[in-house]
This record gives sequence, structure tokens and C-alpha cells, in this order.
Amino acid sequence: MAENFRDDEDRSRFKLDVGGAIAFITYRKSPGAITLVHTEVPPELGGQGVGSKLGRATLDAVRAEGWKLSVECDFVRSFMTKHPEYNDLLAPGAQEKKIATTYRAGCFCGAVELEVTGKPAFAGYCHCRDCQAWSAAPINAFSLWPSASVRITKGEAEIATFHKTENSYRKYCKICGGHLMTDHPRMRLIDVYANLLQGFVHEPTLHANYGSKMVSVKDGLPKYRDLPAELGGSGEVLPD
Ligand SMILES: [Zn+2]
Ligand SMILES: [Zn+2]
Repeated sequence: MAENFRDDEDRSRFKLDVGGAIAFITYRKSPGAITLVHTEVPPELGGQGVGSKLGRATLDAVRAEGWKLSVECDFVRSFMTKHPEYNDLLAPGAQEKKIATTYRAGCFCGAVELEVTGKPAFAGYCHCRDCQAWSAAPINAFSLWPSASVRITKGEAEIATFHKTENSYRKYCKICGGHLMTDHPRMRLIDVYANLLQGFVHEPTLHANYGSKMVSVKDGLPKYRDLPAELGGSGEVLPD
């Protein structure tokens, strides 16, 4: 079926025409910024992946225009949870409040400093063997930030990187060996270790890789054997 995607500025909507049926996402624009408000896919286009195509085309258009993105629409929000490669489009803190909060972190000796702005895309605890071995600790408290919201403010030349897999580039200070963060380039997210961020309140929502746990944590949060399905895992949940 013929498909045609375009920005219908007269009606403030991105629309995807599929053989004459229209799916659309409405928006509000202001100079340099856009808010995605609401998505509609007509019933005759249901179950064909049209919503995902529309979401992808819309976010690609936002990226091409360089607009700062805010999202009010639940559909787009859940699409972005499944496709974190778009998280860097979000204006820092856009979902929470107008003035974004900045948190600072540093290495053990203070030679390296960095800051993050806004709020993390995910926060929780990782029990994987790689985190255990690298940090010499049973659990890593992670907070995953869109790459664009992390900024090195001091000592960039002192940062060394080691990667065992393409998924995780682990960064530390060459002088003191203190750990700073893990870049997950495929997800376009950076784990800045929650306990390094001054003034940051860690609000974990899950435990990842509990299948290789060294200690049990009876906090009532979901315990995934590997990862939740929306982060590419099996979604299998284990008891506390
Ligand atoms: Zn250091
Ligand atoms: Zn881990």
C-alpha cells in the first residue's frame, strides 16, 4: 500500500497516509522546540505496525529539524521507552519541569568531574557478573542518562576507557582508578553511577540480571533474571 508521511503544518500534525487512511501525531511548536501531544491510528490500520512507523518518522523529522522535544503523548512516550536511541532528542528535564536540575559527580581523587542534567531514563540495580567483577562490589546502582545530558567539566584527558563487549564502555580515572560511568553506545545511554551524583535521589524501579546475584535485596522491586523486555531482555521475573 502506498505510504506518504508529511508535516501538515496547517493542522499542527505529522501524518502518515496509508492508502488513504490517515494516522497522525498532533503537536505544538515554539521557536526551536516541539511538544508531541497526541497520536491517533484509525482502527482499519490497527495491527500493522503503522503507529511505530509514524513514531519513527516523526522522531526522525524532529531530529532532522534539531527541535528540542517534549512529549505529552503516552503512545510516543512508550515508543521511546522501547527505542531509547531517540532519548537524546528530549530537552533536558522536559518531562518534569521547566528548569532542569544539574547534578555533579567526580572520581575518587577529584581530577575528573562531570555533570548530568535532567532526569535519568532508567534507574535501578545491576547484579551482572561484569559489573560485579569490574567494580569489585556485589551490586551496581545505575542511573541511565541520555548521552547528550552528560558533560565532562574537568580532567577529560585523565579518563580511560575499557570495553569487554561492544555494549558497555567502562570509564575511570587514570590517576586514582575511581570509576565514573559506563557508556552504552547502542542504547545511547550512559550509566553514571548513582552513588557518585551529589544531591541526586536514586529512585530505582528494577533489579537487572538478578539471575547472577551475589546478595538478595528484599525491597519489593521487580527482579529480572536478565533485563526487562523493553530493554531487550527476556522479561522473566524472579522472586526477591
Ligand atoms: Zn581520579
Ligand atoms: Zn551490570
